[in-house]
Amino acid sequence: MSSSSTPDLSTTATTENGSASHTTPGFGTRAVHAGQQPDPSTGAIMPPVYFTSTYVQDAPGDHKGYEYARVSNPTRTALEANLAALEGAEHCIAFSSGMASIDALLKTFTPGDHIVSTNDLYGGTFRLMTQVFEPFGLRFTFADLADVDAVAEAITPNTRLLWIETPTNPLLKVFDIAALSELAHRTNITAGVDNTFASPYLQQPLALGADLVMHSTTKYLGGHSDVVGGAIMTNSDAWNEKLRFLIKSAGAAPGPMDCFLQLRGIKTLHLRMERHCENAAAVARFLRPHPKVADVRWPGFEDHPAHDLAKRQMRDFGGMVSFVLKDDAPETAYRVMAATKVFALAESLGGVESLISHPASMTHASIPAEKRRASGLSDSLIRLSVGIEDEADLIADLEQALEAA
Ligand SMILES: *Cc1c(COP(=O)(O)O)cnc(C)c1O
Repeated sequence: MSSSSTPDLSTTATTENGSASHTTPGFGTRAVHAGQQPDPSTGAIMPPVYFTSTYVQDAPGDHKGYEYARVSNPTRTALEANLAALEGAEHCIAFSSGMASIDALLKTFTPGDHIVSTNDLYGGTFRLMTQVFEPFGLRFTFADLADVDAVAEAITPNTRLLWIETPTNPLLKVFDIAALSELAHRTNITAGVDNTFASPYLQQPLALGADLVMHSTTKYLGGHSDVVGGAIMTNSDAWNEKLRFLIKSAGAAPGPMDCFLQLRGIKTLHLRMERHCENAAAVARFLRPHPKVADVRWPGFEDHPAHDLAKRQMRDFGGMVSFVLKDDAPETAYRVMAATKVFALAESLGGVESLISHPASMTHASIPAEKRRASGLSDSLIRLSVGIEDEADLIADLEQALEAA
């Protein structure tokens, strides 16, 4: 394949859920190719990893589009074009972590600005908002985003951002991105979605009306538990400029090797997501009737409060499953987690390996206990990031571990 015949896959894809049309390549084709052409000097099919901090100029200001690597790097440019194509976005700004991307977004606001978000928010985002940005004068309200009227009530004349996370972590609530974006736009508020749990393969918030979509690429996009990264995608030129100004000014830039690892991981995103979803469905259905299990959270159950919405808004139900034990003591959850052999006890999610974690003492420990319990996060709640191993091995592992409950 010569570079001249390489289809230009870095252009915006507009079809909902990435299905192929004759003008837009399908999701899998974009995942493999978008943003990447064979290297013109060698034919290398993978983008080179440009380990460089600066770029030689022919005369002051006369350069090839790159001046200094905090601002841009060609390996990062390839990743940004790829991620933009996956979310159907004009622009993508890649950051050194998911938190760095939310940090940059919050720095665009000024003291007194108000942000509405979910009361079942990723713990790290909650900590960043309340412990870093509240002291700088930003104001936050954490509401039940399932109740659109309650969200409307939380909005004040100073509200600038509605920050949506769906499905949520770890309770797997599902919120209506289209309805919430519409509500935000009625009052000139930016709607942003943390799309980490779904991945762009399962859910495309910009097509549903959101202004910004954010990923911790550490999770499903990277997919192999070997890299930390973040990104924000948007169709807004103004947001692109603001966020690019911030990465240049504040410097939360991803390194070229990190960008390469993400590009490599993304090539199998669609295949991995299908297996994550199949395995999670099998695990959720195994756990639900188990005598030691009180409750299983998975949006694929028909009686999940937002099952129909999830079916409409997502391609499939995702790879995350949470469950509560009949014996709600945290020690009982600890015993089960200590007994698994395939599921590894670890924070994080979205990698090929199955992980088991205890949000109350791990990812959500920074949320005060009363607040945690009030939002429905019980002490025995166990979160599974279901990997791509064999279904029978995952179920056998949980079966033997639950004997410890
Ligand atoms: C992990 C995660 C983040 C933070 O991303 P990092 O890459 O760890 O900084 C934000 N939101 C969600 C939903 C996450 O799971």
